Amino acid sequence: MKKYNFNAGPSVLPEVVLQQAAKAIIDFDSTGLSLLSISHRTPEFEAVVEEAKSLMKELLGIPDNYKIYFVGGGASTQFFHIPANFLAKKAGYVHTGVWTKKAIKEAKFYGKVEVVASSEDRNFTYIPKGFEIPEDLDYLYICANNTIYGTEYKMDIDSPVPLIADMSSNILSRPIDVSKYAMIYGGAQKNLAPAGVSFVIIRDDMLEKVVRELPTMMNVNTHVENDSMFNTPPVFPIYVLRETLKWMKAEGGLEAIHRRNEEKAAMLYAEIDRNSLFRGTVEKEDRSSMNICFVMSEGKEELAAEFMTFAKDRGMVGIKGHRLVGGFRASCYNACPVEAVEALVKCMQDFEKRWV
Ligand SMILES: *Cc1c(COP(=O)(O)O)cnc(C)c1O
Repeated sequence: MKKYNFNAGPSVLPEVVLQQAAKAIIDFDSTGLSLLSISHRTPEFEAVVEEAKSLMKELLGIPDNYKIYFVGGGASTQFFHIPANFLAKKAGYVHTGVWTKKAIKEAKFYGKVEVVASSEDRNFTYIPKGFEIPEDLDYLYICANNTIYGTEYKMDIDSPVPLIADMSSNILSRPIDVSKYAMIYGGAQKNLAPAGVSFVIIRDDMLEKVVRELPTMMNVNTHVENDSMFNTPPVFPIYVLRETLKWMKAEGGLEAIHRRNEEKAAMLYAEIDRNSLFRGTVEKEDRSSMNICFVMSEGKEELAAEFMTFAKDRGMVGIKGHRLVGGFRASCYNACPVEAVEALVKCMQDFEKRWV
């Protein structure tokens, strides 16, 4: 049976990328050696890192006064690297769910945290807007897409202080104005690569703003100065990341990818709103295009387990909602084909016909 992969992360990657990665494990770029057994300092691999950086720059339109690097440890390592480098007195955090909660916890090891806005009052079902940003903050931190709750910032906010964004689960899903951010980072395993590597896009002026002496691996300058090669970088995930970026470019770049993401999200949300058995869980204007959350309609809750089985029998994989939200979550990342979303919509329609 054909499988439709809606896993939240690690998640679906393009078929051609998987094929290329499989080939490289046996023979990396015609070197006659496996990608898994080469030195990260071979010119062939250095070229992979360079190409990954230049594709990222091209696809996202990253201005010249930014550096890009790749590093291990996942997004969770950045939760403490960021305050270690930039939190001297006080940082502002917009609290929108589990991932900002974790980031706030780490920041408190280094200084004062001011939660400048929060959506906790309504169980993180919206993105706070119109809040004041104090000018005395070392930086303002946001999570651009809340993977678990299914909310997303639909625009790039203006901030009078350096803006730092976790884009783990929506990087390269839509065009952004990079110049509004001091730093953009994320784990690559949602939209770009297998687990093991994070990307960091950082504005040059931030590199001079490191506020304390730090162990070498924690200092952002180490990774910039050594071009992601201070220590052994995650070679395989970086290779796959490059392949994914090449695929994106071949697909028509970020505009084309964005258009398709909007099409998929509109299709699935329309069905959630139409279907009498299901309902959405978050404010419509803040609905994520990447992680689409829904639950059974009121009074129909007892059908949830039945729908899980029904969907599984039709090839749907990974649609169980996060335990904190319940219900269902279909993660429709860049590599999720339109066909998968069509199949899920059809599945929801067929399920409704059985009960209504
Ligand atoms: C998955 C995720 C993380 C955690 O990433 P790790 O690489 O597992 O540390 C952080 N932020 C967001 C938005 C995520 O989706």
